[in-house]
Amino acid sequence: MNLRHTACLLAATALVAIAIADDKAATTNKPPTVETQPAKVVKTDAEWRKLLTPEQFRVTRTAGTERPFGEAYELFNKQGEGTYFCVCCNAELFTSKEKFHSGCGWPSFYDTSKAKGVLERRDTTLGMTRIETVCKRCDAHLGHVFEGEGYKTPTDRRFCINAAALRFVPANAAKPDLKDLEQSKKDALKARAEEEAPPKP
Ligand SMILES: [Zn+2]
Repeated sequence: MNLRHTACLLAATALVAIAIADDKAATTNKPPTVETQPAKVVKTDAEWRKLLTPEQFRVTRTAGTERPFGEAYELFNKQGEGTYFCVCCNAELFTSKEKFHSGCGWPSFYDTSKAKGVLERRDTTLGMTRIETVCKRCDAHLGHVFEGEGYKTPTDRRFCINAAALRFVPANAAKPDLKDLEQSKKDALKARAEEEAPPKP
């Protein structure tokens, strides 16, 4: 075997070694096969109506907008530390850490929670181009996100969210079970009773 032959052989061996290493890296870098996102929640309008108050249904399932500075918003303003879940499916959406006061009359957050449960998509209704925000898990309409308005927040984004789309859970309370949509129903029945109660004198 001459020198040239040996060099070729060495080079070939090195290439094989690299190929094996690459293969190993590809195997170890594979994304985990375990489903990290909870399964999608799909229901008919009739099923949603059973779980939600008429206002929650109108906002989340028909892309409605609640009136600004409403009762749900007043309640939102009084809430302390905690987490905001989707009123339809209990997916985590926002936390009180990203909450800020924008003065617009709807709950405002400068970012979503680390759970990344909010999906953004283009909305061209009403002759405007806006970014709609929906729940990733059940497609509930939440509101819109606006950018570059000059708010002194870390992102300069304003997630303008309907209070009716959110379920607040204080920091010291148990988080809702993703599978237990019955909880939504119990809360909805209570809220509905309050909505339908005659106004207090
Ligand atoms: Zn949801």
